Amino acid sequence: MPLAADTIVGVVGAGAMGSGIAQVAATRGHRVILADAIPAALDRARSAIAKSLDRQVEKGRLTVADAEAARDRIDYVGGIGPAQWAQFAPCGLVIEAILEDLPLKKAVFTALERVIAPDAILATNTSSLSVAALGGACQHAERVVGIHFFNPAPVMPLVEIVGAITTDPAVVAAARAFIDGWGKTTVIASDTPGFIVNRIARPFYGEALRIAEEGIADPATIDWAMRDIGGFKMGPFELMDFIGNDVNYAVTCSVFEAMYYDPRYRPALTQRRLVEAGLLGRKSGRGYYDYRDGARLPSPLRDQGLGKRTVDRIVAMLVNEAVDALHMNVASAADIELAMTKGVNYPKGLLAWGDELGVRTVLQRITALQDEYGEDRYRPSPSLRRLAKEARRILG
Ligand code: NAD
Repeated sequence: MPLAADTIVGVVGAGAMGSGIAQVAATRGHRVILADAIPAALDRARSAIAKSLDRQVEKGRLTVADAEAARDRIDYVGGIGPAQWAQFAPCGLVIEAILEDLPLKKAVFTALERVIAPDAILATNTSSLSVAALGGACQHAERVVGIHFFNPAPVMPLVEIVGAITTDPAVVAAARAFIDGWGKTTVIASDTPGFIVNRIARPFYGEALRIAEEGIADPATIDWAMRDIGGFKMGPFELMDFIGNDVNYAVTCSVFEAMYYDPRYRPALTQRRLVEAGLLGRKSGRGYYDYRDGARLPSPLRDQGLGKRTVDRIVAMLVNEAVDALHMNVASAADIELAMTKGVNYPKGLLAWGDELGVRTVLQRITALQDEYGEDRYRPSPSLRRLAKEARRILG
């Protein structure tokens, strides 16, 4: 049941993600039906898409004619009701990208199922909800799949394809082949909280926050260390300020709850206070840093020893998380490496990084933290223990 090249693509929700996904599909030659409950959101989407296509032309990635053709391929549908849903009837694939609210998303799926063809695929761009729960709202759960883009969708190459327990494997394969055809890098993730990237990346933020909360290093120093010593493009605090502390905190809370409150994913009070105070990051003018006119960014303490210890601790936690995701069959080793390098631009795959450091070194760092704090948060993955044991047997 592969999706045909002339498949009409429906996108529900014309916010940051929906408009980006619609733009990618239209650029790849598909007719697109883009709907939003709020007509004003469609105006914003239309101008965001036009601006983004213009930028692609400026960069020489698209011709003026191609950009115009892509713009013309998108039909905008305002409001939600039977007349609006009926417009999705010719779609072979509909991607839902409305706000992260399960009952609302279920209602969209139920409405779409009434109008689309029996073999049309229904996809969700959810970051944190279960694909199974959305399938559960449908008559035909076998055609419900997760197609999780990253922000901004036209720029970020990674897309996680998520099959639920009820999804037909042929639907997963069809979705993957279709999105590959858009020039994206797809990975297959199990229907587990945070999928690959939003699960494995948690310690990047969480451990950095913990180090800052304990006063071991301040945000500027941690960011400097992760950039200059760790090789990351952005430090955790500048990245949280860029993403928005409200958004980043919500993802952490959702993974923590969905993991039955596993302390490894516990959100930080510091970030909660920032959200409560409205210090959301760049978008509100202040977060961990002050971005208002005239404000000065704090200088890091460029202490190589402290910097290295900081990077070692955060990277050990990230490697442990990646090894554990592999242990729990969240994805294949190759897809875990691809996801973290293409989805969040990590300087190298975490499994390869673990090999480079030596699994015994990583295990030592995690168990030292476990001994120091006595917390289950610093629990080595059973696979990390096994790999370290094997390395000891082979290397002596
Ligand atoms: P957004 O708030 O920018 O846009 C959501 C849009 O959905 C709004 O325009 C809203 O009017 C519309 N909407 C709400 N209810 C609707 C309904 N019933 N029918 C039609 N339209 C409706 O949100 P976003 O950041 O684009 O996120 C959308 C989805 O993508 C969420 O599930 C989110 O978790 C996921 N996601 C977000 C990001 C990100 O970084 N922003 C990344 C990956 C995935």
